[in-house]
Amino acid sequence: MRTEHQKAAQSCRGFMPHEEGMALYRAVAEVGAKGPIIEVGSYCGKSTIYLGSAALEIGATVFTIDHHRGSEEMQKGWDHHDSSLVDTETGRMDSLPELRKNLENVGMESTVVAIVGDALTVSYFWETPCSLVFIDGGHGPIPAHADFDSWAPKVCIGGLLAIHDVFPDPEDGGRPPYEIYLKALDSQRFIDYAAVGSLRILKKIDV
Ligand code: MG
Repeated sequence: MRTEHQKAAQSCRGFMPHEEGMALYRAVAEVGAKGPIIEVGSYCGKSTIYLGSAALEIGATVFTIDHHRGSEEMQKGWDHHDSSLVDTETGRMDSLPELRKNLENVGMESTVVAIVGDALTVSYFWETPCSLVFIDGGHGPIPAHADFDSWAPKVCIGGLLAIHDVFPDPEDGGRPPYEIYLKALDSQRFIDYAAVGSLRILKKIDV
């Protein structure tokens, strides 16, 4: 991964440790340009830069989906709230300007397409099989399961499904990302491919 991309990603706001970001970068490079790459949960684009850096090298395109109003845990009073991302006119979260700025800074505006909206709604209209789907949207039970149920089927055979914030020990974090990781394995459509920190990457072996 190019040094300037690594530096830019590391200076972004977000919750993606560098080692886990590098695992995303490698996953995209390894899976190749079989199809588009989907990220559910763009936030400010930190992990998007890791995905985009590899996509740029292999000639793939990343579609990153977010309503940019912040997930539950990013609202005021919650752990991951960042008051500098609140639109002063409306008082609502808006991480889109920061995402656009970060993608412009790394020259990825033609490699990464930002889709602004609800990932479930987008999924209803998405038919192209994906080489990699990365789920890092809302971490509550409803959004996490909806993201899995709607996007895991879009991964092509031989493609990869990445899930962030998978904590087998409840002491380390919330359950839903871990539940959808188990759901993927239980479906027998996916097998373990890589694990770094709380990032899990699975390979699709059956429809
Ligand atoms: Mg995360």
